[in-house]
Amino acid sequence: MKKKKIAGLLAVSLLTAVPFSTGFAEGPKWTNVNVYEEQDGSKFNNENYDFMKFSQVGAKLTAIEKQSNRVKVEVRGTSADGHPLYVVTIADPTTQGKFGKFQSLRKQMFKNPGKAQDWIANNPDFKVPIMINGSIHGTEFVGSDAVIQLIERFATQNDAETKNILENNILIFNVVQNPDGRVDATRFNGEGIDLNRDFITQSQPETQETVELIKEWNPMVFLDTHGYVKNYGPNLQGLIEPCTPPHNPNYEYDLYNKWAVDQAKAMEAEIMGDKESFTGNLYQSMEGVYVPQRDDAAGWDDYPPIFTPMYAMYHGAYGHTLEAPTNDLDGVRWMYNAIMGALNFATENKQAMIADQIEMFKRGINFDHPFHEEGFFPNAYILPVDEKDPTVTNKAVKHLLNNDIEVKEATKAFTVDGKTYPKGTYLVQMDQAKAGLANTMLWDGEDISNDTPAMYDISAWSLPELWGFEAVETYSPVDVTAKQVNQVTVQGTVTGKGPYLIANSSVKAVELVNTLLKEGVAVSRDASGDFYTTASANTISDAVKESGLQIGSVSSVPGDAAEVSSLQVAILKDGGMGKAQSHSGTKLALKRLGFEVTEVAPVDVAVKGLEGFDVFVYSGTESLISTNLSAANKEFGFQNPEQLTAFQRNVNSFLDNGGKYIAVGAGASRATWTLGLTDNTVKTAGSNSNGIVKVDYLGEGLTGGYGQDDIGFVYRPVWYIVKGNDEVAATLDNSEDFFVAGHWINNKADAQGQAVIVKEENKDVTLIGLEAGFRDHTDYLFRLLSNSIFEK
Ligand SMILES: [Zn+2]
Repeated sequence: MKKKKIAGLLAVSLLTAVPFSTGFAEGPKWTNVNVYEEQDGSKFNNENYDFMKFSQVGAKLTAIEKQSNRVKVEVRGTSADGHPLYVVTIADPTTQGKFGKFQSLRKQMFKNPGKAQDWIANNPDFKVPIMINGSIHGTEFVGSDAVIQLIERFATQNDAETKNILENNILIFNVVQNPDGRVDATRFNGEGIDLNRDFITQSQPETQETVELIKEWNPMVFLDTHGYVKNYGPNLQGLIEPCTPPHNPNYEYDLYNKWAVDQAKAMEAEIMGDKESFTGNLYQSMEGVYVPQRDDAAGWDDYPPIFTPMYAMYHGAYGHTLEAPTNDLDGVRWMYNAIMGALNFATENKQAMIADQIEMFKRGINFDHPFHEEGFFPNAYILPVDEKDPTVTNKAVKHLLNNDIEVKEATKAFTVDGKTYPKGTYLVQMDQAKAGLANTMLWDGEDISNDTPAMYDISAWSLPELWGFEAVETYSPVDVTAKQVNQVTVQGTVTGKGPYLIANSSVKAVELVNTLLKEGVAVSRDASGDFYTTASANTISDAVKESGLQIGSVSSVPGDAAEVSSLQVAILKDGGMGKAQSHSGTKLALKRLGFEVTEVAPVDVAVKGLEGFDVFVYSGTESLISTNLSAANKEFGFQNPEQLTAFQRNVNSFLDNGGKYIAVGAGASRATWTLGLTDNTVKTAGSNSNGIVKVDYLGEGLTGGYGQDDIGFVYRPVWYIVKGNDEVAATLDNSEDFFVAGHWINNKADAQGQAVIVKEENKDVTLIGLEAGFRDHTDYLFRLLSNSIFEK
């Protein structure tokens, strides 16, 4: 499910959990495997539901493929832990082997949408791609189980309903979107990332694979299978989107909503039509399904493009999250029926639904958005390239291209709004098919604090601000000679005789420093946070080439520059406390900065201490040092109260021996206070307040590379009332409008002008109140971590 909620105990015994017949030859054959091989003994499967083990999936799909001429099974990459990502495409035999033709036909939709609409009107036998995503959250087992049953049905059955659906559609099943999570019985993939929060960042191989699939097919309908939601309304079991407000303004929401509510009702009707087949008590009194948009005013929104179906909506899909009520065979049946309801609905309405999908692209291409206020979309975004450090803009352009967004590169200098940009400047012109996606990635966002009482997850994600590249929006006509960009490949160069300056300007710059340090190259760092090396051009050229940076010479290394060394970083591991792995984003940020990072669980620190490490990073919930944990959380924290005492003792002796302690975010800051490592008062706001804030950085030392009126990101905001002579390296801007974009209602005014980065005066303890490594997304803030690590 989307919410962090632990499934309750169910009164379903294993004995009743026998496979049911769904009208086809044979149900799936559940195979019991060793519980130690795949964690069906997990506390997240306390129903002991005998789900299909991931290790059985490949053989099952191969067996189905053998007995059918409608099925294509592919492995489309591997998960973070190296498990195969299976994709099954099912179409009637006349369509198999012609997918390329259908895909190029789909591409007509955004090359020449008018023509595509005409073609569809004249060729009613066209086939529509529908994509179904299995169990993106590892512990929500029923999704992939329903998917496998559907694959078996559409591969082998010949009833009228099956045949009708296959005559009208191509079914694309992303069978197990998160194999690591299924094997480990966790919500996350092997890197600890919640994949259903990763669709704006796309940091993980599983997400990248799904983005590729979505781009390849531009599915008309996208269904994402989850669990578990029950009793959200009286006798309403399960949940089917569309969502409550606020809806993101970058959608062509009118076109989506014209069909999404009715499609949800069709799914509900299919479930209710099969009501007598369900065996659990919960289902006996079921009167329908909870449809957030129909049944509520707020609380389950589709605002951020981090969720899979919401992301797919920007590619024209009618996207729905489906939350089964229970983790058992009834849950599988519910999911199976819901998907059948959508398939039948899409089949009945495909002509009109596809016309509206194409209409979305047409609005983009024609820059004609009748649903939006005039001037909502700018004419273009101009992306100037920093000559010395083009790496961030290059990453952004690659990301835009990976997302089907057209980017141009000026082949001559041009002037817009009185400003002249050089040749080589990138342009995203907004008269394009996927304008909504381009805008949701490039805009600044908005402050929606007053629009709704609470948001589900993040409310701001601006790539320019949080990745740290310039994107100038313009409402003026852009007259420029430009060429289409197909790929970006930039090699770094070294010029001059040295010494060389590596400006502290990006993640890639710090990564280069760490690469050189690991190679034994001497690097020093000055008070403003920039790096220098006196090594020869030859020595550093390979690493520089790889980095993409343009490294030049300076006359001499500043006198205040001190040598830095390769450091061993330990990060406190959150294995899944409260179904979150809050340290994972920071861990990935540190890795991308080039540090050696080791995860240490709270028990490890208590038992073994921190010997061998130079830096200890705490980036996660304060519950990691709690001695009062629920049964479900116990395995991730201390096993007894003595371990807290030992943890505290070991962290203190680590500090006494010259170790460095860095806390990131609200939970870690509170824990730091509990551990007695700070005397500052730690103030926090609500856990679902988050957004982009204006920050005044000191601009040297801890905050070298940042400045006044700069940007930060908060999630469960935290600030400090400082005691004594601690160094205050950054404050929230002291103006009423310091909150730039996102959602934050309570006590926002209290935080204005307050400290957000401080260093204790007598201990090497740094508190970073900003989300320096949030979900591998806040690249622009990653250097707050490296600054703190390198600062003596
Ligand atoms: Zn889920």
